[in-house]
Amino acid sequence: MTAPPASTVTLENRFARELPELGVPWQATEAPDPRLLVLNEPLATELGLDPAFLRSSDGIRLLVGNLVASGATPVAQAYAGHQFGGYSPRLGDGRALLLGEVVGADGALRDLHLKGSGRTPFARGGDGLAAVGPMLREYVVSEAMHALGIPTTRSLAVVATGRPVRRESVLPGAVLARVASSHLRVGSFQYARANGDVELLRRLADHAIARHHPGAAQAEHPYLALFEAVVAAQASLVARWMLVGFVHGVMNTDNMTISGETIDYGPCAFLDAFDPATVYSSIDTGGRYAYGNQPVVAEWNLARLAEALLPLFHDEQDEAIELAVASLGAFRRQYDGAWAAGMRAKLGLPTRLDEAVTAPLADELLALLEANHVDHTSFFRGLGAAARGDTESARALFLDPSAVDAWLERWQALGPDDRTMDSVNPAYIPRNHLVEESLAAATDGDLGPLEQLVEVVTEPFHERPGLERYAAPSPDDFGAYRTFCGT
Ligand code: AMP
Ligand code: MG
Repeated sequence: MTAPPASTVTLENRFARELPELGVPWQATEAPDPRLLVLNEPLATELGLDPAFLRSSDGIRLLVGNLVASGATPVAQAYAGHQFGGYSPRLGDGRALLLGEVVGADGALRDLHLKGSGRTPFARGGDGLAAVGPMLREYVVSEAMHALGIPTTRSLAVVATGRPVRRESVLPGAVLARVASSHLRVGSFQYARANGDVELLRRLADHAIARHHPGAAQAEHPYLALFEAVVAAQASLVARWMLVGFVHGVMNTDNMTISGETIDYGPCAFLDAFDPATVYSSIDTGGRYAYGNQPVVAEWNLARLAEALLPLFHDEQDEAIELAVASLGAFRRQYDGAWAAGMRAKLGLPTRLDEAVTAPLADELLALLEANHVDHTSFFRGLGAAARGDTESARALFLDPSAVDAWLERWQALGPDDRTMDSVNPAYIPRNHLVEESLAAATDGDLGPLEQLVEVVTEPFHERPGLERYAAPSPDDFGAYRTFCGT
């Protein structure tokens, strides 16, 4: 391979330099006819990248990896992971590349990363490619999550490559350029640990501390403090998913970040009707990653992180395990606290109210929502109107509207604050039927519906006239929704 030309954009290669054992220097496959489909101009500007440059032919070549930023050493990252509970010692970026890091004005690094950029040494049987639909799906859902205030990787651009991709049918190919505070995962630590080299594990942990949890460096036990910081970040993250009705769909340990950002939008979807057993992923036949299982799965994944970190906790394994168990014990407390505080805000209830009052109120509500097949997002948004005295839009969502009357009366007596509610209960989420509709149009060459959907869901709390369609539950004929992984 001849090296591609360097651009005027400069990137750091901190990961590649500090952790060469965890990356293979690699180049993107040449895109025959790259065409920019969407560009996130505000994000580009935030990163110090000129949107006009990114729209130019060199800019587009940068966004598919065919023009390498000066100073950059693109690598395919190595990681291991438990997938659906089974351990794979060698996963890694099979169709992705870390281009390098952008240095922010505050000195913080952010990864610039590509997905769909061609086969790498980790590709196994895969073609290394991605189709337009799934990459646009990650774009719209990740930007919606960001607008909802939920930590996430961001999407900078999607570029059609001009290369067809063979799935069930032949689809147009694309590359997603995404940004993350890093791509370190639980699986990165599992890989380093399995390598058997404690010095590498320590170097990885030091890198993670510097990038994500610098306070841990000052702690008495820095590596235990790192672990505790990840536990806290994930407890808070998963509580936010649950409160907004987000189903990640593939919470394998290689898809769980050390930063606490949501990553890898494959078979993800938002709840329509509230039901803890909801599974969207076509391959999750056992329901391991069902909506209601997500907190328990997060805790399980964090136990795998603790196992990987044991040699850094203590020289004696028994003592290391004892420390890990104690630190992991914080997860449930932190998750429960974050969820309860978030639910209180969704219900508009004052913080001074006793948990003994709010907890049963919330539990009873969820049981009613489930029994009556109530649309999760519409209900909580409608409850804001109910706080203003109009209970009809919320009641009408129930199979039996009278079922919720007694609950509404109890709740209203507590004096809910509708303004708090409207600031936390979104009117607009990327609803499954709207996502599908916009991706089908985009795959056929019409980006209009997708652009409109992005505009709507990136301002989720501000209800605007004319957008009723975007706030409405899915039509009855939409049926059981299925999403696909590795697409
Ligand atoms: P994901 O489910 O997207 O997190 O991917 C899990 C693993 O499969 C990662 O190691 C990916 O790099 C790899 N992978 C997924 N799709 C492909 C593909 N089309 N070609 C090569 N590797 C892939
Ligand atoms: Mg992944």
